Order: sequence, then structure tokens, then C-alpha cells
Amino acid sequence: MTDALTVSTRIGPELVELRRALHRIPEIGLHLPDTQRAVLEALDGIDLEVTTGESLSSVVAVLRGRAPHEGERPVVLLRGDMDALPVTEEVDVDYVSQRTGAMHACGHDLHVAGLVGAARILDELRDQLVGDVVLMFQPAEEGPGGAEPMIREGLLEAAGRRVDAAYAVHVYSADVPRGTWFGRPGPLMAAADEVHVVVRGLGGHGSAPEKTRDPVPVACEVVLAFHTAVTRQFSIWDPVVLTVGRIAAGTKDNIIPDDAVVEATLRTFSKEHRARAHEMVARVAQGIAAAHGMTAEVTIGNGYPVTVNDAVEFDFAKETVVDLFGEDRWADMANPEAGSEDMSFVLDEVPGCYLNIGAAVHEDLTRVEDNHSPRAAFDDSVVPDVAAALAELALRRSRRLASG
Ligand SMILES: [Zn+2]
Repeated sequence: MTDALTVSTRIGPELVELRRALHRIPEIGLHLPDTQRAVLEALDGIDLEVTTGESLSSVVAVLRGRAPHEGERPVVLLRGDMDALPVTEEVDVDYVSQRTGAMHACGHDLHVAGLVGAARILDELRDQLVGDVVLMFQPAEEGPGGAEPMIREGLLEAAGRRVDAAYAVHVYSADVPRGTWFGRPGPLMAAADEVHVVVRGLGGHGSAPEKTRDPVPVACEVVLAFHTAVTRQFSIWDPVVLTVGRIAAGTKDNIIPDDAVVEATLRTFSKEHRARAHEMVARVAQGIAAAHGMTAEVTIGNGYPVTVNDAVEFDFAKETVVDLFGEDRWADMANPEAGSEDMSFVLDEVPGCYLNIGAAVHEDLTRVEDNHSPRAAFDDSVVPDVAAALAELALRRSRRLASG
């Protein structure tokens, strides 16, 4: 056993206690005062430089290593998200959510406990740590997004030098056996953007369309042309998913409306295709409207960017996890997922890796439900493993950075 595993095994029961305490008091969004207080209490007694957020209830803690080192000190960032979801829990456990309409249905309570565990492990192993570790406790992963405001408030410079590498772990309540780590290099999760198109025509009587500019058939053409453009203009090996989920116009069969609205979700897996897809959506909608003597207003609401695992960091993270837990607890992910992740903002700025671990409560995976379900349950026996993995990543990465 490595030193990190030895410590995580010893403090494991306390980390599980912390996870259960957090599970009882879920909070949603940017402002999580009770969760923030619990994190600060759990970190109390560890020698850290702690700052709390101004525009959100984040916690950033810098832990300084004591291993001898000449020159610039490496900086590694470890992230745990803290927020819950607007879901009423239906899991029968004695630490069930005490708050109707709020639940840790995505397992972020395990992430917080894991990151606190990493802090405690690194505190004990400070003599082996070269350089510094930034612990990022972030709100609002489930929206509206906590990483961007934290970066704006100085997250990446918290240690006095820019972060060199960043890591995060997510737990899964379904899909994979408990304790199995999984991930992939390159794109891991999608960029998710909201497309809003208004076709501007000129309304009038349904009996005399020649006196109007009818936006309804034009909006329909825009929908079809979007799908044609996705399949004809983008390689299938770098997928683009465009789903029109809403189309709306008019009030009555014999009235031609002034406007028609088309709304879509747009998911992409590379910066290049994201930019091209934005350009395509505007060009197609405006071009088709122009062909019929109308205009189209196109707005695109940017969601989280593509989450990308740096290839070198991925190999390093996988090797670390396999060293700690064995080859039989690793699975390569064949494909990215079309969900999206706030950690993408950090991984956009610095190389790093985002890993997943199974936390299903049953061996029989037909009996468990996905993250975000009111019946999603997470086995917190994996919390010490999350803590050990994060700590070991920081220890090894900073050593490698220091040796150049
Ligand atoms: Zn999540």
C-alpha cells in the first residue's frame, strides 16, 4: 500500500461520516452557506491558506508541501464540487436529505468528502509533497456554473504561481461496478449550447398570404436545413448533435403570425466544431429567411465548453489509479458522454484529467438508477479511494513537475 492509501484507510470512517452529514443538508446553486461552513469546519486544524468566494460560497485552500526543492514550486489543483440538485430524495437511508426539493442526487457530497480527505492525507504527507496544492471546493456545477467566477476571483493564482495541472473525480450511481475507475483521453463531455432563432415575417389574414410574409413555413425549412447541414457539413468522427426541442408560432388557424421561434440544444465535442456549428446555425437560419424575403435573429447561449482530458495527463492519471487499485479496477471509456461539466473551464486553462468512479449500491446494475434520479444512491465506501487517488495524483504530479 502507498502512504496515501494507508492514511485514507485510517481516516475513511470519518470521511464517510462527513459525506453523510453533507448529504442531510443539500444546497443548490451558487450560495451554499451550510455546506461551506461544513467544509471550513472539516478543514479546521489543517495548516492551509483558506479564502472564501465573494460572488459565490466557494472555498479555496492552499496546502504547502515541505519536500526540499530548488526553483519554482509546482502547483497542482484538485477539485470537488459541492452543490446538490432540485430533486426530492426517495432513497431509504438514515442520512436521507432533510430538505424537501433538494438532494445530493449527483454525488457531489462524496466529492467534497473525498477532497477533504485528500487535504488530510497531504497534510500528513507534507514532507513528501514538492510544491503546493490548490483545493477547489466549488458551488453551482449543476448551474449556473461556479468554475468561471472562481477563476475570475483568482483561483488559478491562489498559490502565488499559476496552476500547472488540475484533476477532478466524479462518482456514478449506475452503469459500472462499484470501485471501477473509468475515463478516456481527449474529449470526455460535450459543450452544450442553446440556440434561439426568431424568424421575422409580416402577419396578416390566412386567406391572403400574398399580402404577408409568412414565417411559419420558413421556420419549418430552417429546422430541416439544420439537420441537413449537421449531416453534410460535419465529419461523423467529431459528432455534432442538434435537437430542435421547441418550435412556436401563431395563435389561430386563419391568422399568419409576425414571427416564428425555433429553439435547439447544440452539443459538440471539439472547439473547432463548436465554432463552426455556431457559424452554421446563423448562416442557415439567416440564409433561408433571406431567400423568402425575411430576416432571422439568431442568438446562442453558451453553456459549458467541451471537457477535454489532456492526453499526457490522462496517461499519468490512469497509471496512478492503476498503481493504487490494480488493473482490474480500471475501464477505458469507448466514447465521450453528451452531458457537460463545469470543470471544462479549468481544463480549458490548464492541462489535466477528469476521472470517474463507480459507486453503485448493488452488484446487480439493473437494480440501480442513474445520477440525478430521486432514487440515485451512492455507496460511500469509495470515498477513501477518491481521497487517496486525488492525494496521490498531487504527490506524483508535483514530483514530476519539480524534476522537469
Ligand atoms: Zn455531477
